[in-house]
Amino acid sequence: MDKAVNNKRSRARPAEPAALVKPSREEAEAAVRTLIRWAGDDPDREGLLATPARVVRAYEEWFAGYAAEPREYLKRTFEETGGYDEVVVLRDIRFESHCEHHMAPIIGRVHIGYLPRNRVVGISKLARMVEVYARRLQIQEKMTAEIASCIDAVLKPHGVAVVTEATHQCMTTRGVHKTGVTMVTSRKLGVFRDHAETRQEFLAAIGMHGAANSANGRG
Ligand SMILES: [Zn+2]
Repeated sequence: MDKAVNNKRSRARPAEPAALVKPSREEAEAAVRTLIRWAGDDPDREGLLATPARVVRAYEEWFAGYAAEPREYLKRTFEETGGYDEVVVLRDIRFESHCEHHMAPIIGRVHIGYLPRNRVVGISKLARMVEVYARRLQIQEKMTAEIASCIDAVLKPHGVAVVTEATHQCMTTRGVHKTGVTMVTSRKLGVFRDHAETRQEFLAAIGMHGAANSANGRG
């Protein structure tokens, strides 16, 4: 009986979930034409003829993060730290992302601090890793937590802190139309969570002086 059940299972091979099957370029361009019509314009008018192709190419850039593995960027570390045992802070890593609720741009900066345990990583590698997460559909809280977890998992530092400040165009250009509002999210692990002094040192280095204390990310 077991055998019969197994056979049945193997025959009814589940189809790949539709969401994960990448559409063809033609299908993606057709979807853009639909959105142009939804906006109220004519995709066949001259000025819009090449737009679907351009939008689809832009998507390849904006969402390139799905094709990359962020941890890979941190794997080449420098173990010779010359006994350096202080906090390393990277301030103002600019990023561009898109919110997963409206697919509208999120523009901001990420600040990273970590207390190395023998291993440090090049500045450009951290910036690349941030870019991989940013080039996906995101919510800011999740991105902040993902960046912290990635550093924590690969570098295994004594602690890591990530603060993200960003403006959300779904909020500034539509809906409540609140310009000048910056959302701040943070994630602190290890010594940055447990030791107020280390946390303050990081917040002072990024110019927040404790301002982010009340803005703990949900993630
Ligand atoms: Zn949004």
